[in-house]
Amino acid sequence: MKVSSEILNLVPYKPGKPISETQREYGVQHVIKLASNENPLGPSPKAVEAIHQHLSELHRYPDPSCYELVQKISQLWKIPKDQISIGNGSNECIDLLIRIFCEPGEAILTSQAAFVAYQVCAQAARVQRFFIPLKEGYRPDLEKMADFLLNDPKASSVRLVFIPNPNNPTGTYSPFSEVEKFLKKISVLENVMVIFDEAYNEFVRATDYHSAQTLMKQYKNVAVVRTLSKAYGLAGLRIGMLLAQPEVIDLVNRVRNPFNVNDLAQVAAKAALEDSEFIERSKKMTWEGLDYFYREFRRLGLSFVESQGNFVMFDTGRDVKQVHVSLLKRGMILRPIDNYGFTTEMRVSVGLPEENRQAIMALEQVLAEIPPLK
Ligand code: PMP
Repeated sequence: MKVSSEILNLVPYKPGKPISETQREYGVQHVIKLASNENPLGPSPKAVEAIHQHLSELHRYPDPSCYELVQKISQLWKIPKDQISIGNGSNECIDLLIRIFCEPGEAILTSQAAFVAYQVCAQAARVQRFFIPLKEGYRPDLEKMADFLLNDPKASSVRLVFIPNPNNPTGTYSPFSEVEKFLKKISVLENVMVIFDEAYNEFVRATDYHSAQTLMKQYKNVAVVRTLSKAYGLAGLRIGMLLAQPEVIDLVNRVRNPFNVNDLAQVAAKAALEDSEFIERSKKMTWEGLDYFYREFRRLGLSFVESQGNFVMFDTGRDVKQVHVSLLKRGMILRPIDNYGFTTEMRVSVGLPEENRQAIMALEQVLAEIPPLK
C-alpha cells in the first residue's frame, strides 16, 4: 500500500504514562501520576450525579447538535449559540480546524514548544508546520510571529495560527496587550485565522491576561478553543468547545462526525459547567499547589517557570530520561518533555497536597543520586 511519507514519519502524541503500565513495568504498587494536567480532585460531583441519573438512556443516540449543552455555554459565557461547536475533547476541535482550513501543502504557524497536538494534527493532514522561537522566559514571541506572517515569503501558505494561552508545557502566557497588538498588525491578512487555545484559562492568575473571546467581535478571524478536561475534571469524557464565527461553526458541523460527543459527556458537561463551587475549589487547590512547588524548587536550587496552568515546568539540571526512570521506580509519574526539545526540564502537574509532597520527596532523593550535568 502506498502511504504518504508525512504519515510514515508521524511521531504520535505521547500521553503521560498510565498508572497501570507503571505498576506492571516497575513492580510498584503505590503510584502517583502527576503527568497529564488532570484534576486531582476528581470529576465535578454534580457531573457524576447527572451521569447516574442518565444511565438508563444509553440505548439512545446522543443529540448530534448538543443543543442543551450549547445553550448552557451560550448563557454562561455570553456568546451566541451559532458561535459554539462541541468537540470530542478540544483536540478534536483543533484537528477539524486544520482539516477544514488547510489544504495539503498549506501550513499552520505556532511557537516552538507549543502544545504538540497542533503539529501532530497538521502532519496527519499533510499540512506544513512553521515554528517561531520563544523569547526570554520561555514566552511566545507574538511580535516575531507577526513579522513572519507579514514579511516572510513562506508565510503565504499559512492558513491557521495556533496560540496556546497559557501554553503547555511551559505554563507561560501572552498578556492581553500583546495579543491585541498582534491581531491589529496581522489584520491586513485575509486568509489567516488565529486560534487561541485556552485549555488552562480558569487557572490564570496574571492580571494582564484576558480571554481572546472578548476580541471575537472586533476581529472576525479569531477563534477560541476551551476544554472541560482540566479545571472541570472531565478529561475522561472528552469535551472541548470551539468558539468562532457562525460561518466557521457551520463548516465544522458539516465535517465532524454526527455523534462526536457522547450522551453522558453532554449531560455531565452541562452539570459541570454549573458547578462553580467545584471550579473555585480546583483553582484554590491548584494555586496553593503551585506556590508549594515554587517554594520547594527554590529550596532545592532548581530553576522553574512560573505557570498560569495547573502544572509547572522545572529544570532538573540532569539528563531528564534518567530522572524520569528513577522517579518511575519510586512510583512517581512526572512528565519528561524532551519531545519539546527540553532535555533537562520536566513538567509536574499539581496534585493533592500529599501527592505534591511525595513528588518533592521522591525528586529530592533522585536528584541526590544522579549527578548534575555541568
Ligand atoms: N490544549 C492544550 C494546551 C492542552 O494542554 C491540552 C491537553 N493536554 C489540550 C488542548 C487538549 O485537551 P482535551 O483534548 O482533553 O480537551
